[in-house]
Amino acid sequence: MAATPESLSGPHFEATLARHGIRALSRKSPATIQVNVGKLCNQACHHCHVDAGPRRTERMTRATAARVLDVLAASPRVETLDITGGAPELNENFAMLVERARSLGRTVIVRCNLTVTLEPGMEWLLEFYRRAGVELVCSLPCYTAENTDRQRGAGVFDKSIAALKHLNAAGFGRGELRLDLVYNPIGAALPPPQAELEAQYRDELARNFGIVFDRLLTITNMPIARFANQLRSAGNHSAYMSLLVNHFNPATVEALMCRDLVSVGWDGRLYDCDFNQMLEIPLGGSAVSTIWDIDDVGELVGARIATASHCFGCTAGAGSSCGGAIA
Ligand code: SF4
Ligand code: SF4
Repeated sequence: MAATPESLSGPHFEATLARHGIRALSRKSPATIQVNVGKLCNQACHHCHVDAGPRRTERMTRATAARVLDVLAASPRVETLDITGGAPELNENFAMLVERARSLGRTVIVRCNLTVTLEPGMEWLLEFYRRAGVELVCSLPCYTAENTDRQRGAGVFDKSIAALKHLNAAGFGRGELRLDLVYNPIGAALPPPQAELEAQYRDELARNFGIVFDRLLTITNMPIARFANQLRSAGNHSAYMSLLVNHFNPATVEALMCRDLVSVGWDGRLYDCDFNQMLEIPLGGSAVSTIWDIDDVGELVGARIATASHCFGCTAGAGSSCGGAIA
């Protein structure tokens, strides 16, 4: 989907940085390559910034996945391959990406929606995760069925709980293998304090279901794609943007995820982050545009990062990134 006018105009992010004496964003040494293998997903959540769903056909080919791995191998400072989608496990090159990145000694993070582990034909997945030693980051927007199903679809909560029980039984979330959960607000609000909400999740999930996990990551809903459409239909897009702008927190800027990450799209194009990827905003300040144009992502150190008004979603309140709250 091309960038909407609202994403590129509206409140000016760089002007806000300047008012706080902060220079325009530039990239430090990339520690993570985040690869979005496509938009195919077994779910179609209301807030999805990828517009993913069961009928989407965009998917990373074997040649592109192999090139990502070549660049990873030639980028010694990159510690982590972070694999997302859609439901990344539904891509036929998923296992190759995981296994080869692990054999290169890199940490592999998989952004898993939980329910995919219960899909027909995916019975191999849990044992594969365990054997490969991946770190799982799993979506669970609430510890109640009502709120989770409202955002992610009827029956998703029960399936998510069943999947979490299987993951705990396989050793995830018990200190052996990493299992983090992701919260994002149900509506047009900022997330509550991460530590307090994590304590509530820990208590509710243990008491009601015997489920354990490592960390809860709170992530702000970005005003793009499906969530932006939902805001517009409800007539509160402007109010949500004002909420984000009015809660700009300069303390979040140093650790924004785009500072040390490079994002790769399903077709091999490069972006400053997954959100810019969805808005088709190309890498800022660099002539490089695809994974075939570079050998080592370290070549992108110092490059200017392309920003627009949706970036206020990362800097509001405690901040937001793929690793949760920032400040
Ligand atoms: S939010 Fe995640 S699980 Fe939901 S449709 Fe998007 S990619 Fe799929
Ligand atoms: S959306 Fe967030 S991560 Fe992406 S460029 Fe803007 S501030 Fe950085």
